Amino acid sequence: MRRFVFTKADGRKLLLYAHTGRPGPPLPDRLRGHPGPVHLRRHPLLDEWVIYAPERQERTYHPPAGACPFCPGGEVPFAEFEIAVLENRFPALREDPGEPPRLPVVAAPARGRAEVVIYTPEHEGSLATLPQDRRRLLARVWNDRYRELLALPEVRYVFPFENRGEAVGVTLAHPHGQIYAYPFVPPIPQREARAFAERAVLAELWPDLEAYRVAARPGFLAFVPPFARYPYEVWVAPEAPHPGPWSFSDAELDAFADLLGEVVARLDALFERPMPYVMAFHAAPKGIERFHFHVEFQPRLRAKDRLKYLAGTELGAGAFTADVLPEAAARALRGVRP
Ligand SMILES: [Zn+2]
Repeated sequence: MRRFVFTKADGRKLLLYAHTGRPGPPLPDRLRGHPGPVHLRRHPLLDEWVIYAPERQERTYHPPAGACPFCPGGEVPFAEFEIAVLENRFPALREDPGEPPRLPVVAAPARGRAEVVIYTPEHEGSLATLPQDRRRLLARVWNDRYRELLALPEVRYVFPFENRGEAVGVTLAHPHGQIYAYPFVPPIPQREARAFAERAVLAELWPDLEAYRVAARPGFLAFVPPFARYPYEVWVAPEAPHPGPWSFSDAELDAFADLLGEVVARLDALFERPMPYVMAFHAAPKGIERFHFHVEFQPRLRAKDRLKYLAGTELGAGAFTADVLPEAAARALRGVRP
């Protein structure tokens, strides 16, 4: 993998990743970032941080055709590229966040990073339709970001994710994901780290996952967890516990990337329409070894034309109700022809 580092006209960093060649001819670099002050406030009842980034109200919302910021000549001022990573134009976490205002609650600077990962220069597509070598390159890009961002002294947790579809509020259709590098460990990985410190939860579950299998590659399984909270929720995990994908071998990275693509293809085939989802990487917080890296897909359709909404019991009380049994969801996802 080759990596080219550029500084955009507004000072933001742009990284281009390629198998071999250099990026294509340069184009004008017109889009400017809007970094505003950002800060954290402590929720005193839930004991967790809330990130405030008011500048994000101004972010791009459903750009007209031909004005996609992720097509060549938008954020990436090159006519050709393979995969691009750049700092978010409207960052929620920043290297220079400014000081928080005086408040009646505990506050802190939102010092970190918010990056966008553009999977392809093509406007249409998905993790499922990317060429295999591009998907495998993407897995290496994620690892490069893990290494670089985890090495920053202020960063405690690195979180690659993808929001897909209008149902989860995505306003840009171009295939892309994001990476947040937080100055704290968010609640979910914190709870997971506590669970893995006590027991090898996923490894203990492994022998019983056959009925929940969706797809597999050597050493990797895609499965509906027997305790799924979302209809058609799918996890992708290596059989051997790894703190993160950074400790995978080259062959394991390829298997991992291929399996992610197959999961998206199966989710899309299920209702014969692109499945809106959140894809979340769950790696170990910095400095923690006892963890079992996995990727969680949280799809939002429970039927072809029915969205799963989070409402009273989920949002108000934190208790999920599920409409689809995990073993039935696994059977359905196994049965589709992607
Ligand atoms: Zn585009």
